[in-house]
Amino acid sequence: MDFADLGLTPDTLKAVSDAGYLTPTPIQEQAIPVVLMGRDVLGVAQTGTGKTAAFTMPMIDILSDGRAKARMPRSLIIAPTRELAAQISDNFVKYGKYQSLSMALLIGGSSFTDQEKALERGVDVLIATPGRLLDLYERGRILLNDVKLLVIDEADRMLDMGFIPDVERIVGLLPKIRQTLFFSATMDKEIKKLADKFLMNPKEIAVSQPATAATTIEQGVVAVRNDDKREALRRILRVKDVHNAFIFCNRKKDVDILFKSLTSHGFDAVALHGDMPQSKRNETLAKFKAGEAELLVCSDVAARGLDISNVSHVINFDVPVNAEDYIHRIGRTGRAGKEGHAYTLSSPADVKLLAAVEKMLKQSIPPLIIEELAELTISTANSGDEKSTGKRERGRPRGSRSAKPRSKKVTAPKTETAQTESTPVSAAEPPPESLSETMPVDATTEAPAPLQSAPEPPPEKAESEKPKAAQPRKNRDDDRRSPNERARKTRRNPHGIAEMDIGDDVVAFGGFTPAFLQDAPYRATELENPQNDSGEGDTDS
Ligand code: AMP
Repeated sequence: MDFADLGLTPDTLKAVSDAGYLTPTPIQEQAIPVVLMGRDVLGVAQTGTGKTAAFTMPMIDILSDGRAKARMPRSLIIAPTRELAAQISDNFVKYGKYQSLSMALLIGGSSFTDQEKALERGVDVLIATPGRLLDLYERGRILLNDVKLLVIDEADRMLDMGFIPDVERIVGLLPKIRQTLFFSATMDKEIKKLADKFLMNPKEIAVSQPATAATTIEQGVVAVRNDDKREALRRILRVKDVHNAFIFCNRKKDVDILFKSLTSHGFDAVALHGDMPQSKRNETLAKFKAGEAELLVCSDVAARGLDISNVSHVINFDVPVNAEDYIHRIGRTGRAGKEGHAYTLSSPADVKLLAAVEKMLKQSIPPLIIEELAELTISTANSGDEKSTGKRERGRPRGSRSAKPRSKKVTAPKTETAQTESTPVSAAEPPPESLSETMPVDATTEAPAPLQSAPEPPPEKAESEKPKAAQPRKNRDDDRRSPNERARKTRRNPHGIAEMDIGDDVVAFGGFTPAFLQDAPYRATELENPQNDSGEGDTDS
């Protein structure tokens, strides 16, 4: 099928041709005619499938007739993160370049004044994160009763981030008679329930199985002790042909630590997480997109939808707490049919999280085998090793590490060290409609855009995105509990017995009496002077 068969206007087709797209992707093929007919859509599609264009292109054509009134947007797109919202607005600029629609981007961390000014002029397309939208609504700066077209993007992510009460509130403020397009990468019961609530007789379009990774992505896992992760990462970065990479940490604090560590070791890195001021986030992303920084150390705020072409590697410094985030993280590489590499560092404490990822993938991730990693690699990441290694680490005094010298760490099996290359992996079967089969290389050049977007506003405190009323948004962006915190709540030993929720400073032996308590006299020096080579911070040499 050709773009010309989808019912788009000549102006939009011209913009599509300027973008260099030859054929519509499966989601575009199926969604565009339905959206143009005015019907609701329930789309199950991951980022990277061409989903954004599937709704922006027909919206541009629908909205090309008519005029917006002051403070009364004609359409509304809600996205979970500021970066995604900004990316959607880029799409409007790209595909709407031959039409004169007006647009405003309402995201937290940016100046209210500029956003209010844009609203005052009247906008055809309003793209917003839920918190900021409600803030402006509560200030009386926006009226939502003229919204005829609503898009809810990345609904599953909204759910993860605790935004659903806000989204429900926003939808409650819109006219009942409207067209609604609802997109989610996954479609579990909870999402389906929401969709049923928001949509009327939608056309259901699913273009890829949830939880599948592009087959163009080589995956590999490195089993290392937690304290060796930074060293392992540096070795990977030195040995592998890393052109540029996303490096994901589960916690914002760890993003900062790892960023500092990498820079102090001479790597060209920038950092991105939800606690940074928006101006800094924009600047960081722009730098990384422009190839001015090789490594983007980030939290899951960058996992979804960021569309940066030609990212050679994704490295999970931590195994994600939510298994589905693995798919989103690694989807930053291998985009649009290109080759990509995704490596995961897994410590004994990550074993359960890794098992959850593999269960979701319905396959195990093979070890990444590089000679340089051999002395750091522990025998297996997924063998229940957690108990022995993990407990030993927890029981040690703070600031201390194993009494074993580095060289005595468990080495990788011989068969593994003999190889020098990682094993390419076939990830889950590609969906037949996979973009990798249909998409040409991204168009990178952008022509000037007559579409009027709100000017990039100066920074403002990031917290302003959070409306006061909605408690669940405490959990917004990547503001999640650490894997350890979560694991502590649920951790069970191999016999299925829940372990105590203990802090790092507490040693619990249960019914077991360790040898050193049986042997008299107890030699205190053995425990009091362990080899100290790493504390909690970044002390690697
Ligand atoms: P998305 O799924 O919206 O994140 O889009 C992923 C990437 O695919 C973006 O870089 C788009 O520019 C690109 N893209 C969208 N539609 C097409 C198409 N029909 N042909 C080639 N690339 C496309």
